[in-house]
Amino acid sequence: MKKLVLFDIDGTILNTQGAGARAFRRAMLEVYDETGPIDDYEFHGRTDPQIARELLRMAGFQDATIDAGLQRLWSAYLRELDLELRKPGNGTMVLAGVTPLLNALHETGQHLVALLTGNIEPGARLKLGAAGLWGRFDFGAYGSDHERRDQLPAVAIRRAQDSSGIHFQGRDIVIIGDTPFDVSCGRSLGVWAVAVATGKHTTRELEDAGADVVLTDLADTQRVLAAIEGTDAVPGVSLA
Ligand SMILES: [Mg+2]
Repeated sequence: MKKLVLFDIDGTILNTQGAGARAFRRAMLEVYDETGPIDDYEFHGRTDPQIARELLRMAGFQDATIDAGLQRLWSAYLRELDLELRKPGNGTMVLAGVTPLLNALHETGQHLVALLTGNIEPGARLKLGAAGLWGRFDFGAYGSDHERRDQLPAVAIRRAQDSSGIHFQGRDIVIIGDTPFDVSCGRSLGVWAVAVATGKHTTRELEDAGADVVLTDLADTQRVLAAIEGTDAVPGVSLA
């Protein structure tokens, strides 16, 4: 195994066409009778527990009240997300190139392929299941593991060691994601950050966030493989 490759989900692997946000809103109303400023809130790159806490704090809630409702929130959210994902016409869209890329990574036999996502684990399972991709990843580090995304790379490294016996470090760990949070979350560990502009952020924003490589999408498998290996990377120059 040469590399541990960690994929973000929303905006990187797939797009649920708003299903996740609609489910989140209904669950918040059901449990807290409040959504906070959800219409103006930027979900992307944040963990599910962080989203709930930030929205409810902005609505004046104390942490003890927030914490007391979280288990019920996740139950309601998962029920609503499942309903959303099963609705006809609400098909989750797998982004261009993802399936061939996963095939190629598995074929090399040189990559441990896993998830690093702000989704709680059962939410990740529902979204990837709707896309037929649950089961394509060896393990994951999830929003249910830690509220702060910058704590998730360490979780992934630990699980990689449990799963493969290998202690991955530095540039042998590659994070692929669509937001500045994906880019920055592994910085203190020296991981290699490949950013892809298939979410809400532009290539410029991802460059400014300090991504090692920025791609417009994952459609060109050979190019993405080169980006993962770092063979195409030129400091400060976008491959996009
Ligand atoms: Mg994302």
